[in-house]
Amino acid sequence: SYFRDLGLAEPILHALETKGYTDPTPIQRQSIPALLEGRDLLGIAQTGTGKTAAFALPSLHRLAADPKPRKPASCRMLVLSPTRELAAQIAENIAAYAKNLRLTVDCVFGGVPVGKQARRLVPGCDILVATPGRLLDLIDQRALTLSKVEIFVLDEADQMMDLGFIHALKRVANLLPKDRQSLFFSATMPKAIADLGKQFINNPVRVEV
Ligand code: AMP
Repeated sequence: SYFRDLGLAEPILHALETKGYTDPTPIQRQSIPALLEGRDLLGIAQTGTGKTAAFALPSLHRLAADPKPRKPASCRMLVLSPTRELAAQIAENIAAYAKNLRLTVDCVFGGVPVGKQARRLVPGCDILVATPGRLLDLIDQRALTLSKVEIFVLDEADQMMDLGFIHALKRVANLLPKDRQSLFFSATMPKAIADLGKQFINNPVRVEV
């Protein structure tokens, strides 16, 4: 099958053509139709399977189909990633997929001064990729609110647990609006991760690759 058959909007298909992608990977084929319908997703997948595009493409489609003015210190989509390297890579990929859309992508992580990141968030952005610690710093500084999040993605949940982010993630869960779409990805799904997932996702489609 082709990306065209999955129901993605033309500007997104053009961006994929530019990247030279023709066929969706298995996780993309299995996830994209359900995500376009607004379903929650539980994805058991490793990096390298194409999972970034699996969550980014339908999310971009849904955000672009319902344009909204940017709100100060807010984002419409939040992606949480365990490390700055992964966060930066995800943001770069999303920006490439979004290049023909009027959506803005920002990325915030620790290890660099927070002031510049806080100032960038003043007008708000459409899609924010963040590591958990820096995300909560920005929220505590009133530089960011999660009250406008429509789509939430938790990537690499097992790595998040290993890095000790469990309490940060529980805080984030309590700050997200109840009415939202949630996607939860992990390479492995032991009980502790499945229990964490239950705090975020509701009646999810389950995809394992
Ligand atoms: P990920 O698992 O999201 O880290 O993606 C792994 C790599 O595969 C990345 O370099 C992507 O740019 C690339 N990729 C993702 N989807 C496709 C596709 N459908 N066809 C070819 N390459 C892809």
